Amino acid sequence: MKITDVEAIHLTLPERQAIADGTQDAIIICVHTDEGVTGIGEVDSSPHVIKAVIEAPMSHSLCHGLKGVLLGEDPLDVDRLWEKMYRASIFYGRRGAAVQAMSGVDIALWDIAGKASGRPIHKLLGGGYRSEMRAYASTLFEDTPEGMAKSVARHREQGFTAIKFGWGVFGKDSKHDERLVAAARREAGDDMDILVDAGLVFNASTAIRTARMLESYNVFWFEEPLPPDDYEGYAKLADAVDIPIAAGEEESTRYGFADLMDRGRIDVVQPDVTRAGGISESKKIADMAHRRNLPCVPHAWSTGIIVAASLQLIAAIPNALFLEYCTWDSPLRWELVDEQFPLHDGRVAIPDKPGLGIELNEEVIERYRVA
Ligand code: MG
Repeated sequence: MKITDVEAIHLTLPERQAIADGTQDAIIICVHTDEGVTGIGEVDSSPHVIKAVIEAPMSHSLCHGLKGVLLGEDPLDVDRLWEKMYRASIFYGRRGAAVQAMSGVDIALWDIAGKASGRPIHKLLGGGYRSEMRAYASTLFEDTPEGMAKSVARHREQGFTAIKFGWGVFGKDSKHDERLVAAARREAGDDMDILVDAGLVFNASTAIRTARMLESYNVFWFEEPLPPDDYEGYAKLADAVDIPIAAGEEESTRYGFADLMDRGRIDVVQPDVTRAGGISESKKIADMAHRRNLPCVPHAWSTGIIVAASLQLIAAIPNALFLEYCTWDSPLRWELVDEQFPLHDGRVAIPDKPGLGIELNEEVIERYRVA
């Protein structure tokens, strides 16, 4: 089998949403082959930048768009092609957009491998650790205590047993922060887990103070209170408090995650399969976390493609804990693929169809495609 084309499809909703929430636009990667099998991937990043990384012509053997080094290759050599892409982009890459674009290709290559062999990706990764995973509802902070209570009630009605609030107003006023968390806890009672994602707004000392407040409401974890490069701040925080500290959605590659785990001493490792280096690299990162006895909970906040890819990773690693289940209302989240991943008792089944187990909705692609 040979790769015949690598397509980067840019989708945008016609109207800009009030909050930049990551489901405003999308870039889908399709890897085509001479045997008629097409692999699907996605990158949760700037579609314009990712498209350029895929399509750029060669400037130098170490500075090459990804498509040019993939054409004619055997798509089943997933690991070798990862290294080939990494080397071909090393001048402008190693982290950031280049590794993110590689992530979309890597997911598509695994989809091809699954479809070609008739197996779900997690079986090819030697997985099969589980057939379902507990999901947490992932949503944004509401502005008021009443809004928080309503959001908890709504998500509980949908069947969730855990909910994460992120970003928005959190971190601007410590008294208001506490009112919001208290309202969520009051509505949730003791049965539902509450998680908090701060959105990079604190320094080590304000994060420590906030972490102690969250501990008093038995919050499950405290996510990304600090900027992603503040490894020393993360270490200070992790040493000072008991609440687990989660991070990793801006991080990529084994090299970056080694710093986050060993210098930052975080407790929950969150590679995003569409940014950290794909399913291949996220599996390696999860293995590194397992070696340190840490759980790995893939970050996932965009379309159904990332949900499908994250579920395959989750099934293939021993240290998974949750599926992040974005409940944000966007047609790109809910209509792009043919699978809805319904909840049963707060859990989502791992698809066991070949590859990612999804098909793209061509009508939705036509509706929102801009490039
Ligand atoms: Mg987050």
